[in-house]
Amino acid sequence: MSWLLVIEYEGSIWRPPSEARSLILQATVGCSHNACTFCVSYKQKKYKVRGVLGIRKDLESLDHHTRNRVKRVFLADGNALAMNTEDLNNVLDLLYSELPQLERVGTYGYAKDVRDKSVDDLKTMKKSGLGIIYLGLETGDDDLLRWSRKGVTTDENVEACLKIGNAEIPLSLTIILGLGGLENSDRHARLTAEALNKIDPEYIGALTLMIPPGTPLFEMTERNEFTPMDPFEILNELKKLVEQLHLSECVFRTNHASNYLPIGGTLNRDREKIIQVIESVLDMGDEKSLRPGYLRGL
Ligand code: SF4
Repeated sequence: MSWLLVIEYEGSIWRPPSEARSLILQATVGCSHNACTFCVSYKQKKYKVRGVLGIRKDLESLDHHTRNRVKRVFLADGNALAMNTEDLNNVLDLLYSELPQLERVGTYGYAKDVRDKSVDDLKTMKKSGLGIIYLGLETGDDDLLRWSRKGVTTDENVEACLKIGNAEIPLSLTIILGLGGLENSDRHARLTAEALNKIDPEYIGALTLMIPPGTPLFEMTERNEFTPMDPFEILNELKKLVEQLHLSECVFRTNHASNYLPIGGTLNRDREKIIQVIESVLDMGDEKSLRPGYLRGL
């Protein structure tokens, strides 16, 4: 869209699939954690806050017509929620005052950012127009969280998510299929389902592990210290995960470009249908029914 050409972004920009049509603005640059072994997104960036000054500069580069069309904004980079509450509220106020059609602002969050905020802080952000938080749960398995240097425990992840829920901000969680390899697959599926059941979020997006050059995990794979799972092993893991999910009304999707099989539905309602689709693909055992490797991406 036109703003992609106009705004001067710092480095590569990443956003959730559901924010494809949103105006992306960098409230922060990079990720304040930046240590996960599987993540290449912000390796080249040093974390900093751009805040109101940076966002104002971006908005000034948009013409009147473009500003009047924006309905959704996604605040990049990796965890704009790390900004202090006042700064983030100022950014939200600025956006809603400058973009007359704005309906929702979303951002990535990291559990430690949420830990450092009170429920009242989060409620103020919601009141200022923060409409969704995307949080990378990745797994419910503490061993895998430690191994992938996520920097948080499952309890901390769950606590952060429940806090977001208490503030009534819609929550979208991502988990990573294949994160532990085949030997840890059953445990990863079981413990991840357990954590998700405790949180009961509005949205879950399953990604499939990608191992891009530049990540510590790539080096480990090169040294044969990690063996990625094949597409059917990944689908088996997905099936085990879905079988163990007990959620009240959650949109579950595997539409991220990293996945072999894009499926979606509302859980629990569509659980049996989703499982049947996975089983039929597993029974066929034909790689042609899956997204080819060259079309997978981050
Ligand atoms: S996965 Fe998230 S928390 Fe981890 S380094 Fe990447 S952006 Fe930061």
